[in-house]
Amino acid sequence: MYWKPILATMKPYTPGRSIAEVKRTYGLQDVNKLASNENPYGSSPAVTDYLQSKADQFEIYPDAFTAGLRTKLAEYHQVDPYEILFGNGSDEMVTMISRALLQPGTNTVMASVTFPQYAHNAKIEGAEIREVPMLENGDHDLEGFLKVADDQTAIIWICNPNNPTGNLLTSKNIKDFLDRAPKTALVVLDEAYFEYVTKPEQEDAINWIHDYDNLIVLRTFSKAYGLASFRLGYGVTNKENMAELNKVRNPFNNNTLALAVAEVALEDQQFLQDCVTKNHEQRKRFAAYAAKNSLSIYPSETNFVLMEVPMDADEACERLLQHGYIVRSGNLLGTPGYVRITVGTEQQNTGFFEAFDQLLTNK
Ligand SMILES: *Cc1c(COP(=O)(O)O)cnc(C)c1O
Repeated sequence: MYWKPILATMKPYTPGRSIAEVKRTYGLQDVNKLASNENPYGSSPAVTDYLQSKADQFEIYPDAFTAGLRTKLAEYHQVDPYEILFGNGSDEMVTMISRALLQPGTNTVMASVTFPQYAHNAKIEGAEIREVPMLENGDHDLEGFLKVADDQTAIIWICNPNNPTGNLLTSKNIKDFLDRAPKTALVVLDEAYFEYVTKPEQEDAINWIHDYDNLIVLRTFSKAYGLASFRLGYGVTNKENMAELNKVRNPFNNNTLALAVAEVALEDQQFLQDCVTKNHEQRKRFAAYAAKNSLSIYPSETNFVLMEVPMDADEACERLLQHGYIVRSGNLLGTPGYVRITVGTEQQNTGFFEAFDQLLTNK
């Protein structure tokens, strides 16, 4: 068969280990998954109430225009309803954007390290990948991006805050970049963790979509809204870009329940704010823990941290698993010597620090 030859060099996405599997393997009662940046406080109680009270018409295809959520979200972001495009998670947004723009002969610019799906999709589409090493502090090297971008660059990926470092580029940095980047390249600002940013001076980049015709901003309900299982992300861009991307979108790519619960979750901004506040408090404990133990840590504006470990990252993960904590090895993320830890609840983090103490005392 005619499989694309590049597939022979690729691997499928490796998910983190599940709670059930770790409980079974290690004979543990209490296992905490701090590996996938899910919301440790769950989702809005209004979502649970909705799901218990409502019987949707499951035999009917979902609303292809996603009118209900589209209207509410357009109002929330103060944009035109036709400036929003929904994906089956922002993962599918990444796929749609790649599919619409990348092909052999084009290239795409991104940081190393960053969210792996940008490179993964670019390979499948046959585009050249131009990776720019991150600066020492973990920031994207946007000057470096400008050096490698050219008139064949179809997409530039800016992950802000960046996964897996957690670093946030300032609004000024990004606008300076947009002013100078090739206008023929779509600049994708992937802001999966935007809601967690606590720097007061950070602007909402969605307000810039009319200033820059080549800008799309991605957001998701998976992280701060705590709805990862429903698979719902979206992009905001001008109507012209939206019309092109809409051509590669699969019909009915969002399911009825996901659209309904996202509407409910969006209305409960109090829940979101509470989660952000708690996350901010808990995130500070990681910075303090790292400082106290002379471990390097990146300055996170998200609900995860990338922290140094006193041994090989896979071994550190294995030992943390034995204590019931699932975290992500830097060996998988391109950051050896570090692990990525989702900031948990106060209790989870206290337990995590106790487990980590054991790593430090018995290297
Ligand atoms: C988690 C994550 C996504 C994917 O989110 P979904 O909406 O669940 O597909 C996209 N980008 C980044 C940077 C992420 O960390």
